[in-house]
Amino acid sequence: MHIVNLSTELAPIAKVGGLGDVVYGLSNELIKQGHKVEVVLPKYDTIEYDRIKNLRVHHRDLWSYDGSAKFNNTVWSGDVDHIKVLLIEPHHPSYFFSRGMIYGCPDDVDRFLYFTRAAMEFLHVSGRQPDCIHLHDWPVAIASTLYKDMYVPLGFKVGGTLLTIHNMEHQGKCAPHNLTRIGIRGENYLTPEKYQDKTFPQAINLLKGGIEDATLINTVSPNYCKEILTAENGHELEMDLQRNHKKLSGILNGIDEDFWNPKADSFLVQRYDTHDPFSKDKFEKILKAKEDNKRHLRTHLGLLPGDAPLIGCVTRLVPQKGPELIAHAIRHTIEKNGQFVLLGSEYSPEIKEMFLALKKEFSASKRLAIMLDRDEALAHLIFAGSDLFTVPSIFEPCGLTQMIALRYGSIPIVRNTGGLADTVFDVDFSAEPLNKRNGYVFNDPTAEDVEKVIDRALNDWQNDSIKWVQMMQNALFCDYSWKKSAQDYIVLYRKLSAEHAPGTNSKKRRHKAA
Ligand code: ADP
Repeated sequence: MHIVNLSTELAPIAKVGGLGDVVYGLSNELIKQGHKVEVVLPKYDTIEYDRIKNLRVHHRDLWSYDGSAKFNNTVWSGDVDHIKVLLIEPHHPSYFFSRGMIYGCPDDVDRFLYFTRAAMEFLHVSGRQPDCIHLHDWPVAIASTLYKDMYVPLGFKVGGTLLTIHNMEHQGKCAPHNLTRIGIRGENYLTPEKYQDKTFPQAINLLKGGIEDATLINTVSPNYCKEILTAENGHELEMDLQRNHKKLSGILNGIDEDFWNPKADSFLVQRYDTHDPFSKDKFEKILKAKEDNKRHLRTHLGLLPGDAPLIGCVTRLVPQKGPELIAHAIRHTIEKNGQFVLLGSEYSPEIKEMFLALKKEFSASKRLAIMLDRDEALAHLIFAGSDLFTVPSIFEPCGLTQMIALRYGSIPIVRNTGGLADTVFDVDFSAEPLNKRNGYVFNDPTAEDVEKVIDRALNDWQNDSIKWVQMMQNALFCDYSWKKSAQDYIVLYRKLSAEHAPGTNSKKRRHKAA
């Protein structure tokens, strides 16, 4: 099959969070399984260009619109590992993608609407006929409407569009004139069946419109898929999702096995093979390597050596991730003579203040390291060198870090929400069989629940080595690679190409796909 992704992130060249990992990991796996995958991205100035091979101009004079003005764009192509990327460079006076950042500009809506229109124009004029245009989140959600209302009438035909919702919180709200700027009359879309926002009826809601117009929609874990149909987690789009439930499904994200591989991870001081964790000999080697990484991590961060459990946390420090709960976990861990390493990015001034104050308070203890930064190398070392890893999110569509932690043999402590509940099973209370139980889960986002779960984890680490070894082996045995989830995506792509391609012979397309 031929899949074209429109995305605003791709790891490792343009990554902010999990979205970049997911587009990379899924594409990589689909390619391994014999499919053709392309990723269309904005040509940001911040891209890590040295990681793109064969970078060259692919298409000149791609014309696209902003209001009544017409602008020229250049499309570049290159390879990120085995993935073909197409980078759209607008020659526009607003320098949309030369801002030193991926997100966070006041005109983000216009930047990504412009990108999406130009990307669709490119797919059309370049004669591509993919089985699926796979869209990721609000920034490119308008593509399904552009496809139906602008490009099908021009004769452009693809299997269909799939919108993956990575996070319901971000919806892309704007005014009708923002749509008009890219060539569709915004006022015509300000209706409850189309793009009208429920809370602000004068506003366009890009995610909502994408939910209405995409051929299929999915989200990134089965549990989150159920949660977003409720008022508690639907972020006011639950009714729209319920109305469209027939085209909605939940597919668990995977982690890329090559990128997150302790056996070949160049950021570790001691690599380790987690294959066959139940053999005594191999398991001891894993423990030894983890110990070496822990020692290095402590030395590097100025933490006390010795026999104390170390809890890691690598996260964006946004409200969704429960920064207050993280702060509480830090305090409690140190009170209980454990150690804590936090690597956090994307914080508000208040959240930054809170963590700087904690850092100061505990600086003499040498039990706490807080780095307010984005640091890929350190993230890998924390996964490998920590005993436990916490993800106390308020809500979590899927979450990748708990799965990465499991792969690196660091036991997750997570809140019972979204994809965390699909991947971590409590060692004491889960309904899963004993050999599936791989971590600690708590329910309420309260200081009390955080304390209780940390007490259980530290107690087991200190006093119950048999339980701990079994849990670590279960953790290492988990398979959260993309193999299975990519198959689930293929089922959706096939559905599109079989059922939705206008005027297509479904049998013929199915054979072509295989
Ligand atoms: P989200 O997409 O909501 O940020 P996920 O758990 O899905 O959360 O994915 C987070 C990804 O970003 C993981 O690969 C994680 O290692 C990485 N990451 C998060 N914060 C940092 C940071 N401060 N430094 C380095 N990597 C980070």
